[in-house]
Order: sequence, then C-alpha cells, then structure tokens
Amino acid sequence: MIVAIDGPAGAGKSTVARRLAERLGFRYLDTGAMYRALTWLAMQRSLPLGDGEPLGELAQSNPVTFDEGGRVWIAGTDVTSSIRRSNIDRNVPAVARHRAVRAVMRERQRELGHQGDVVIEGRDIGTVVAPDAEVKIYLNADPTVRARRRQVERPDIGGDALATDLRLRDQSDAARMRPADDADQIDTTDLQVDDVVTRIEELVQQRLAASRP
Ligand code: C5P
Repeated sequence: MIVAIDGPAGAGKSTVARRLAERLGFRYLDTGAMYRALTWLAMQRSLPLGDGEPLGELAQSNPVTFDEGGRVWIAGTDVTSSIRRSNIDRNVPAVARHRAVRAVMRERQRELGHQGDVVIEGRDIGTVVAPDAEVKIYLNADPTVRARRRQVERPDIGGDALATDLRLRDQSDAARMRPADDADQIDTTDLQVDDVVTRIEELVQQRLAASRP
C-alpha cells in the first residue's frame, strides 16, 4: 500500500509521515530530502541553478540514497543535516522546478515507492508520482503557524526572514502544490501530531479492510 502525504512546508508532513510509518510498520520516503540533496550537490559544485539539463544529468548520475538509519546520502556524502539549512530552503525550488530534474526524481521515487508498504511525503505524490496511491492526504495549516513550526527547526535564521522565505517558497512551489482530487485534506493548525496520525491511520485501516476479499 502507498500512503501519499502532500502539502506545503510546515504543515506537519515530515513529523506526521514518519510517525505514521512507525505505527504502521511501513517504510518512509521523504521526497523533499531528495530535491534538497540535489540542490546541496549543485551548490557544492557551483552549477547554475537556472539551467535544467545539467541539473537533470547531475540527478541522473548521483542518485540520492537513504541508509538503514534514515540518513540521506548523495555523491558519497552524508548530507542529512546540511540539507536542513535556510540556504537550501531558499534554493531548492529553483532546482525542483526543472522538468529534467523532476523526470529523474519521479522515476527514482516510483522505484523506491513500489517496494512494499510505504508512506511517501512530498508535494506531488498523490497527483504525479503515485496517482494510484490507496490513501492520499493533503496537509495544510495557517501560514503563521507553519512559520512558527519551521522556526524551531531553523535556529540559523530570524523569524521575519523565515516567514518571508516560506512565503516565497510557497509561491515557487505553487504550480506543484495542488491536492489530488481524491485527497483527504486535513488542516493541522489546531491539531496535535498524534491526532493527525490517528486520523490517517484510521483511513489506512479502512482502506485495508475494504481491499480484503
Ligand atoms: O518538503 P520539503 O520542505 O523538504 O521540500 C523541499 C522542497 O523540495 C520544496 O520546497 C519543493 O521545492 C521541492 N519538492 C518538490 N516535490 C516534492 C518534494 C519537494 O518539488 N515531491
């Protein structure tokens, strides 16, 4: 079974998806980390981020991998913490918008996603990567709350700058941030993580029950 969890930054995707995967005993795939790792590598190599073809080639020849402990690797480097910084937040949409990049990522995500039960989080999982996902969730939250949540994870940047970055990133990602028509939408503004996870878990159990002969 595939559980797709989409939505903007700070909506709670990562925390919810990770905890849900743990509870269900499913694997967890963070597609944002893949775009972040590629952005890190492109910047490391001083590639222009406006040029799609070379970035697509870079993605093709440097597949992002996740080890047993969930650490993120690209080109032989553990980038788990380097990709969670505000300079990556700011630049990743410029890389992610290229068709050549998305084509490579989509194929890789499908490969990784079709190896048994998995929770996949991203922006376009329910619409593009896994339109056949049995459960599709679109998480959202009030922008102020999203910025506040992100602030806790980004001590390297002030609150106002972070809110601006988030708004700009929403704008850049807007083309890909559409809930699938058949997604269940959850506003997490006033909800606790565990309540969101429980709600999704119930949906998963319902779908599993419905698919049993
Ligand atoms: O989810 P996260 O904030 O880690 O995603 C980082 C960026 O990667 C997003 O802002 C977006 O530009 C890109 N992304 C994407 N498609 C996905 C996942 C992430 O374009 N499926």
